[in-house]
Amino acid sequence: MPTFDAPSPQATKYVFDFTEGHKDLKDLLGGKGANLAEMTNLGLPVPPGFTISTDACRAYLAAGAVPEGLDEQVSVYLDALERQMRRKLGDLSDPLLVSVRSGAKFSMPGMMETVLNIGLSDLSVSGLAQVAGDERFAWDSYRRLIQMFGKTVLDIEGEHFEEALEAAKRAKNVTSDVELDASDLALLVDAYKAIVREQAGREFPQDPREQMDLAIKAVFDSWNTERAKLYRRQERIPHDLGTAVNICSMVFGNLGPDSGTGVACDYLANAQGEDVVAGIRNTLSLQQLEDLDKASYDELMRIMKVLEGHYRDLCDIEFTIERVKLWMLQTRVGKRTAAAAFLIANNLVDEGVITPDEAIDRVTGAQLAQLMFPQFDLASKPNRIAKGMNASPGAAVGKAVFDSWNTERAKLYRRQERIPHDLGTAVNICSMVFGNLGPDSGTGVACKTCVCGAEELDVDTKARKFTAPNGVVVEEGDVISIDGSSGLIYLGEVPVAPSPVVEYFEGRLGADSTRAGELVRAVHRIMTWADEKRALYVRANADTPDDAARARRFGAQGIGLCRTEHMFLGERRTLVERLILAEDDSERVKVLAELLPMQREDFVGILTAMGGLPVTVRLLDPPLHEFLPDLTELSVRVAVAEARGEDNEADLRLLQAVHKLHEQNPMLGLRGVRLGLVVPGLFIMQVRAIAEAAAQVAKAGGVARVEIMVPLVGAVQELEIIRDEARAVLDEVTETTGADIRALIGTMIELPRAALTAGQIAEAAEFFSFGTNDLTQTTWGFSRDDVEAAFFSAYLDRGIFGVSPFETLDRDGVGRLVQLASEEGRKTRPALKLGVCGEHGGDPESVHFFHDVGLDYVSCSPFRVPVARLEAARAAVRHPRG
Ligand code: PEP
Ligand code: MG
Repeated sequence: MPTFDAPSPQATKYVFDFTEGHKDLKDLLGGKGANLAEMTNLGLPVPPGFTISTDACRAYLAAGAVPEGLDEQVSVYLDALERQMRRKLGDLSDPLLVSVRSGAKFSMPGMMETVLNIGLSDLSVSGLAQVAGDERFAWDSYRRLIQMFGKTVLDIEGEHFEEALEAAKRAKNVTSDVELDASDLALLVDAYKAIVREQAGREFPQDPREQMDLAIKAVFDSWNTERAKLYRRQERIPHDLGTAVNICSMVFGNLGPDSGTGVACDYLANAQGEDVVAGIRNTLSLQQLEDLDKASYDELMRIMKVLEGHYRDLCDIEFTIERVKLWMLQTRVGKRTAAAAFLIANNLVDEGVITPDEAIDRVTGAQLAQLMFPQFDLASKPNRIAKGMNASPGAAVGKAVFDSWNTERAKLYRRQERIPHDLGTAVNICSMVFGNLGPDSGTGVACKTCVCGAEELDVDTKARKFTAPNGVVVEEGDVISIDGSSGLIYLGEVPVAPSPVVEYFEGRLGADSTRAGELVRAVHRIMTWADEKRALYVRANADTPDDAARARRFGAQGIGLCRTEHMFLGERRTLVERLILAEDDSERVKVLAELLPMQREDFVGILTAMGGLPVTVRLLDPPLHEFLPDLTELSVRVAVAEARGEDNEADLRLLQAVHKLHEQNPMLGLRGVRLGLVVPGLFIMQVRAIAEAAAQVAKAGGVARVEIMVPLVGAVQELEIIRDEARAVLDEVTETTGADIRALIGTMIELPRAALTAGQIAEAAEFFSFGTNDLTQTTWGFSRDDVEAAFFSAYLDRGIFGVSPFETLDRDGVGRLVQLASEEGRKTRPALKLGVCGEHGGDPESVHFFHDVGLDYVSCSPFRVPVARLEAARAAVRHPRG
């Protein structure tokens, strides 16, 4: 479980009137509460209300009970609200009704709970009918309360209520709920109350305050539902934030044809909020609202302008019109697809609303990564069967399923299909077509690739199939392809084509070319601003000339890690075997002499591809046994040969060597600098190859800047020995070739001891590169090859961390070591160059940390280079370096 720090009860103010907050209090009031306060203070028509803080939620979740003082504070604020509204909650003749709505710091659309119409009871329903002069409206509101309360507070499966509603419509022979009259709805209320009795084993509570208190607790609890936790993991929202609860006086969109409710740009007449979200009935466009109710439309347009001017961004809004009076129920800076984010930021700069720096901050590396997904190749003329809403871009191919992620059936399906139960797959499964959910259901943008609201599909969940308008029937397990960018759905598997943004980075699509669309131009512009802004250099991890060339095209300013182990595989493996088996120096020297020209060619290729940009070459790191055959396979081979009486001298020697090199914990064994110290000549050969390659490039008129990096150093003495040997070789090659070889010698910092003694190590190192993969492994004591599969999902589920520390740097532990080593290293050697080459170098959040602690560069895989460039700039916008 996440740990919740409960604030001290006496001192804590848990409840805030809408007039007491503002938009920057999202930590305390949640996004919805902070923005309701902001709108209230802007003088916009917000129904009065108050917010219970996230502090209260955290205290509740920590103690498992409502914190001391909360009830009393709620009473005080409810009292004030009643006085302001001149009505009492649940009053029998003129009831004040309220909504109870969740609202976390980060929007979690559709994830948590809301209960509307709190305050209605068997008696006050008549009072409401009288004051509203509308009996149907009162019964409709009451049946909605029982339904929402039943589902949210009493955990009753929603389908019980839906079936009862369907039955009422069938009995009346109508298709829409608006065609049910007051007496039908009164009967429906009886049916709903019976469902509550049967399913929850209690009566629907008639006391309005009890309704409210139970609803508040249900909202707190909804923070920890499985789907909320899944969403937070996916969106990397910390589990310990908690949600605020907004208590807002009700305004009614279901008071007849002159009332209605809407979100962003859809309007649904005579309805309440959840109808739009649930996509029960078709919504109207705002243009149609203009025809229906010009005054409200004009007011809405005015308010949208005010909000967009105030927030300087496009805003999502939720509103209700109660008998031609417009009320604002919510606003937030609008969620948007990745492409829209780039286009909007770019346009807002053109309109003079925001600066280029702000534009950089309005897009994210994750969005850029999404734009780098491949797209469907439409030249293959795929069989289009339907169109829905383009909710989240990308191209997804998969089997149709008709379940949500957590039903038993879906679990069974995953077991049968051998689909792992982890998050990644949850995301893929979300990439399905939601036939009957609207685009504002929130489901869409929660998914990686998503098409929703495909109304033209006739979905039959019971028969587990859907029928497309052209009669094509897709059954569970049939393959379909969905295009989250266009909303199109195709039958069968459609081949995919590269994204235009990748084509642009690859240099195959110029931003000014006629083929480049608006999106490529927006990306180009923002990336240009980003490169001007960032303080961090961005390099790539690349081991081959091809990778190096691609890294440059993607904007890498050097290679931060060239792993040399890949150069010892394939045909060269036998040479390594000979090196390990060498019985005397002369055999060893012979093998190294054979390896030398090959290594030299490797480095010439990479240095040439990088054209004078710095290249960090890491000397051999992995344990030698990785280059030898597998112990079991070799043992079998030897045993079989023996049984057959065959000569197996070579294999026998090899087997002895494998046994000799066998280690219980190879990652903590004979590897890295330790190899260089105990295998004579190995590192020296590599350094000579690097030096000769640099000389060759220089002779050919090029520039070679190399940085020789020694891995897994734990003590300065290790580095000193290798450094002295390497320097001697560099000097010798310089002298014999006459070339100007510019080489730095430095080390990786990937052991806690190295970080803790960085001040000493910096005496022998001209640069540090943080190997945060190993540093994470050794700081946590996690074997990185084993733990992710073994128990990380349990750790994630239990909130020990919100994201794997191998993915996003653990600032509190590993990060402190990075910071300490940087500071102490620079104390010894102020010009010490600092970089990072672990996977974290391409992770957005980690890039911000590396910027903040003052590293010179990050290095990551070539494909992540653009993401790192953008995030480095965002970090610089947020925290400019002095
Ligand atoms: C590291 O440990 O962070 C690193 C880059 O080295 P490797 O992943 O090759 O061990
Ligand atoms: Mg390492």
